[in-house]
Amino acid sequence: MTVHMLVRSTGRRGWTVRCDLCEHTFAAAVAGRPEAVAFAETNGWIVGECTWCPMCAAAHTSRRTA
Ligand SMILES: [Zn+2]
Repeated sequence: MTVHMLVRSTGRRGWTVRCDLCEHTFAAAVAGRPEAVAFAETNGWIVGECTWCPMCAAAHTSRRTA
């Protein structure tokens, strides 16, 4: 299964990050993808190999025993 970053430009002034696991999206009114990723991460999103919203990230990390 190919996983790619679901970070899309929504126009000239915005990016949308979409969760891999649910339908949640995060809109960042920033100029570039790195800024959008950083902005999402400060809001609890995990963006990397997978893209997860804060709720899915919490569910995942709470199940994970280090
Ligand atoms: Zn989610």
